[in-house]
Amino acid sequence: MPPARSWRTYPQGYMLEAARCKKCGKTFFPPRLVCNKCQGREFERFNMQRTGKVVTHTVIRTPSDEFSGEAPFAVGVIEMDDGPRLTSQIVDVSFDEVKIGMPVKLEFRRLSSEGDAGIINYGHKAVPART
Ligand SMILES: [Zn+2]
Repeated sequence: MPPARSWRTYPQGYMLEAARCKKCGKTFFPPRLVCNKCQGREFERFNMQRTGKVVTHTVIRTPSDEFSGEAPFAVGVIEMDDGPRLTSQIVDVSFDEVKIGMPVKLEFRRLSSEGDAGIINYGHKAVPART
């Protein structure tokens, strides 16, 4: 799917599409062309669950200009329940309350807007999963 189209259809059509290697079963998000475990090239696409947990985390106090208004904030490696790991900002929680093993879910949020052109970048952010 062309990126422009997927942005336009947000949020209704938005999915976390991941890929599972048909040979060894390793999952990737985002999908990739060659498995880094077995070099397999055949994948099954599936829509990943939004839930996972924090594996490691850190606090960013001096971010790039783009995010300077938001510092300090927490960034962590999230291990998704479906297997893939990804790096995400962790929001909706005080950064000193972020813990290893904390359940989170990914939400699609505005990341930043660029100047007067009003270009808005969207991406994933992790928020505490309320059960
Ligand atoms: Zn594989």
